[in-house]
Amino acid sequence: MSNPVPHTLAALRRAEAQCTRCPLYRNATQVVPGEGPQRASLMMVGEQPGNDEDLAGHPFVGPAGRILDRAIGDAGLERSSIFVTNAVKHFKFEIRGKRRLHKRPDAYEIGRCKWWNDLERRLVKPELIVALGATAARSLTGKSVVIQNVRGVLLTLDDGVRLVITAHPSSLLRIPDHIDRQRQYGAFVEDLRRSAAYLGTG
Ligand code: SF4
Repeated sequence: MSNPVPHTLAALRRAEAQCTRCPLYRNATQVVPGEGPQRASLMMVGEQPGNDEDLAGHPFVGPAGRILDRAIGDAGLERSSIFVTNAVKHFKFEIRGKRRLHKRPDAYEIGRCKWWNDLERRLVKPELIVALGATAARSLTGKSVVIQNVRGVLLTLDDGVRLVITAHPSSLLRIPDHIDRQRQYGAFVEDLRRSAAYLGTG
């Protein structure tokens, strides 16, 4: 990109809205930038906007966002102090009848959109990042990650920023059994609680 590097989140949002780095901008309603304080010690990175987020233009406002909000509260954190974003900023979907069904972004799209995540990290300067799900983990570590092997463990990225990988909250929505879902929700909250405990210990 030949445009100057944005130095504020507002400038970053404007630049993201013009992005054509991968084909996903073509069919989405709008870009969905990260949101939160200009400086935040904690950043959470999800996969990509869903249908609700694509329409609203804000991250994590749909069903997965409601679970995330509840878990953030149950972990003793406040969403308003967290910078919340996605590894991929446009909604990828396929049409089935009248519905737009989520499609997982591929390695190319994740790699192209990392440009924006790196700029977010440069501006927000998080002390710790929580990767929500495999796409975020791939974007941040540059490799495929099996969530169950690493979840809740304190990792360090190449630039020294600390990382915790956990499940994506949408995975909880897909668990049919109530008791199993509650158990997995508890594990998710525990990962966020550990992340909160890691903050300020580096
Ligand atoms: S998904 Fe990311 S890289 Fe692709 S067009 Fe959207 S903002 Fe650009």
